[in-house]
Amino acid sequence: MRRSLLLGSILGIVAGIVLWRAGIHPIWVGAVLVVTGLPLAWALLVPGAQGLGPVVTRFETERREVWLTIDDGPDPEDTPRVLEVLARHRAHATFFVVGERADRHLPLIQEIVHRGHEVAHHTHTHPEATFWCARSGRVERELDDTLAVLSPIGVVPRWFRAPVGIKNVFLWTATAARGMRVVGWTVRSWDSVARDPEAVAKLVLRRVRPGSILLFHEGPRLRPAVRVAALDRTLKALTDAGYACVLPDPASLR
Ligand SMILES: [Zn+2]
Repeated sequence: MRRSLLLGSILGIVAGIVLWRAGIHPIWVGAVLVVTGLPLAWALLVPGAQGLGPVVTRFETERREVWLTIDDGPDPEDTPRVLEVLARHRAHATFFVVGERADRHLPLIQEIVHRGHEVAHHTHTHPEATFWCARSGRVERELDDTLAVLSPIGVVPRWFRAPVGIKNVFLWTATAARGMRVVGWTVRSWDSVARDPEAVAKLVLRRVRPGSILLFHEGPRLRPAVRVAALDRTLKALTDAGYACVLPDPASLR
């Protein structure tokens, strides 16, 4: 699937050049480029799309369990409060951290691990606008710079999540070579655009199923009213509905 997608897009570009040189109207040349490029664009830009390589989007479980994931930290204001909220609700989470932020707040990373949670990889600089088209060297640097920050404190991430879920053609080779799997999500909380913590909790509860991966964020990009509060409300609602937040067995990931 991956090769055919790439080959299709390359053939489309070649066909476009041939048609353009033959004097065909630019509208038709453009149409060929768009149609042949669509599968590749879909695979790169749609967070759960599997076209270029496997993306984990849920896990197998017979119990009412979910995998809570929190992106974009660590954050000196939010992370300590998030850890308190998790402790209060007896929830476990995986923190997909940004390497340069981890570098500035290493004690927070150690505290996350110390409290029984997990640290995963969310690039070094969070290049959300350019990651999809980055060359292989840049992708490898984004991975290695963060690994170099985390490895001296004994943290070895097993999971990688692309910024805003937008992937890159070199990602699977680069993550596999570093022992990481690409993880997406099942339920997006939309906390990064929400105004009301209660609305976030309601949306998540409507969509959650056993084995769902929940996507939350921390940090200053969230509205003040929503920061940490949305997570708190959602965890209460999940507990009331009989759900537990666990770190899933890697063999159960799908
Ligand atoms: Zn992010």
